[in-house]
Amino acid sequence: MAVEVGDRIRQEFQKVGLRCTPQRYAMLQFLWSREGHPTADEIFLAINRSDPRSSRATIYNNLHALAEAGVVLAVSLDAGPVRYEANRQRHHHFVCERCGVLEDIASGDVSYRPRRLHLGSRIVRDYQIVFRGVCGRCSKRQSRRC
Ligand SMILES: [Zn+2]
Ligand SMILES: [Zn+2]
Repeated sequence: MAVEVGDRIRQEFQKVGLRCTPQRYAMLQFLWSREGHPTADEIFLAINRSDPRSSRATIYNNLHALAEAGVVLAVSLDAGPVRYEANRQRHHHFVCERCGVLEDIASGDVSYRPRRLHLGSRIVRDYQIVFRGVCGRCSKRQSRRC
């Protein structure tokens, strides 16, 4: 099973023509092994636990390369740090205003579909909707109070 994931990771790099270095491999493995949207710092700390030779700068550069190649997605919201994720299915995001959790919303769950991807003279390559509100956990906590 572990071999399978390893093969898939190597194939992923091959597909986009990016060299698979041990560090890039570890980064993608980390992102594939968990859900969520870690920041570059969180990825750095996780990778450094198993490979303390990685410097912050190389991790940042590699993350940038991975995002450029489309192997991972970079998500930037508000003024916070850029977050990364391996979920490359088209999706939107939900931010909880109470606990700050960032959740994925499948694009199929959203009925809004722009008909043309042109806004005036702009040509839109991609778009992403950010929903804000109260997440399931926080809303449960709230209703239990009364
Ligand atoms: Zn919440
Ligand atoms: Zn996401």
